[in-house]
Amino acid sequence: MKQPSDMEPPDQPAFCQGQISQVLLCPEQIAARVAELGEQITRDYAGRELTVMGVMNGACVFLSDLLRHLDLPIRVDFVAVHSYGSGTKSSGQLEMVKGPTCPLCGEQVLLVEDIIDTGWTISWLRQQLEKQGAEVRICSLLDKPERRETQVQVEYLGFEVPNVFVVGYGIDFAHHYRNLPYVAVLKPEAYEVEKS
Ligand code: 5GP
Ligand code: MG
Repeated sequence: MKQPSDMEPPDQPAFCQGQISQVLLCPEQIAARVAELGEQITRDYAGRELTVMGVMNGACVFLSDLLRHLDLPIRVDFVAVHSYGSGTKSSGQLEMVKGPTCPLCGEQVLLVEDIIDTGWTISWLRQQLEKQGAEVRICSLLDKPERRETQVQVEYLGFEVPNVFVVGYGIDFAHHYRNLPYVAVLKPEAYEVEKS
């Protein structure tokens, strides 16, 4: 017989196979904060053109929602980074797998990230874009300040989250869960299943 702790949240999608333990941020909370961020960015960049640079793949959902709250002339571009880490932690040893397509010299660039953890990825990316002559600000949906190893200035932040491994709203575990409409915590069994 199922124990209460084995029970799934009532609206957990079937593809999650009961692996979600907690919903951290519901769709309504996310949508309201994304709209606020869009309004703030619109005010701050008024009268200027902006290049919105998404960090693939995790920022895809956040970026597409954010774009529709920007009342500015924008270009959209993407970068992809490979981090030589193990398990759920990046190492600071990074490689640009896909660089910017547009020339960035003299451009205002908003670097859009899903989550900042140790801070190595986003601070390295900012440096790379600045080397190309861009003026860079960072916009991240989530931040886990407890895990920070290098100081990062995050100009636009959605939410601070505790030191838990999250998925959903574009953020994956082993390529899955990006299509969850909320930000959630996985049950430990989900990691054990993927590792075995
Ligand atoms: P950092 O270089 O700041 O340690 O790592 C940032 C990257 O690590 C994020 O872009 C994301 O890909 C990954 N990451 C950090 N924390 C989490 C988490 O809780 N869940 C998932 N799925 N990825 C995370
Ligand atoms: Mg990311």
